[in-house]
Amino acid sequence: MTDSFVNSVTPDGERVPSHSGEPLVVLSDVNKHFGELHVLQDINLTVHRGEVVVVIGPSGSGKSTLCRAINRLEPIDSGTITLDGQPLPAEGKALARLRADVGMVFQAFNLFAHKTILENVTLGPIKVKRMKTAAAKQRAMELLERVGVANQADKLPAQLSGGQQQRVAIARALAMQPKVLLFDEPTSALDPEMVNEVLDTMVALAKEGMTMVVVTHEMGFARKAADRVVFMADGQIVEEAEPEKFFTDPQSHRAQDFLGKIL
Ligand code: ADP
Ligand code: MG
Repeated sequence: MTDSFVNSVTPDGERVPSHSGEPLVVLSDVNKHFGELHVLQDINLTVHRGEVVVVIGPSGSGKSTLCRAINRLEPIDSGTITLDGQPLPAEGKALARLRADVGMVFQAFNLFAHKTILENVTLGPIKVKRMKTAAAKQRAMELLERVGVANQADKLPAQLSGGQQQRVAIARALAMQPKVLLFDEPTSALDPEMVNEVLDTMVALAKEGMTMVVVTHEMGFARKAADRVVFMADGQIVEEAEPEKFFTDPQSHRAQDFLGKIL
């Protein structure tokens, strides 16, 4: 790869997708209400293996609920969600296994405050994946190395900067060897000077072929790493396009209006 872009472009200017085209996460006619509020309306979305989908849209449009539905933190009213061809289980052991396959990185870092950085990363593999402690530690150190915080392994989360904590959260998610990683505004709680260190980590993951669904308003990240931008408003997917197309030539009024406010 000669430039910093994940997706290559042919001499004719045609984008070559980074993914295989094989569906990994498929949402079909998904609906969800909170009381009167129809928060997800007939959502149809396919995320392919190796694909990076960036979800953007105004606050309250249902982006977090969409992520939580994919991870089954939020039950849906109707429709189906499948992961690697399997419908999402409702409960029990199958659900725990599914959770291991769907990693999630939240806006707030959500690390266990009273456990060290290393323990934060080894806990899931030891408890859920029944990994031996020594092997889990070794793997955790490799992951902490990869996200650039290995030298913080013995500290508590509060002793790290927000950017470092969020990179630990990414390492923790990776430790479970997920099939897909969901990011819900992973940089919006960070001080500005720490945003790039987290985005750079995410771009590196995207380049390595990780399947990612990323809710973010970071347009630089979307341009650099996304195969596709999905624009949500009022519980609906209003528009989907390749990032360059979406940012330069949005089709819907809602997207034009939204981009006018944030760009
Ligand atoms: P976004 O992430 O795009 O800002 P959310 O998915 O968080 O949007 O929320 C979509 C809508 O659903 C908002 O109007 C929000 O207030 C509402 N909502 C989210 N979670 C709940 C909940 N647990 N109970 C009731 N309403 C909720
Ligand atoms: Mg949200």
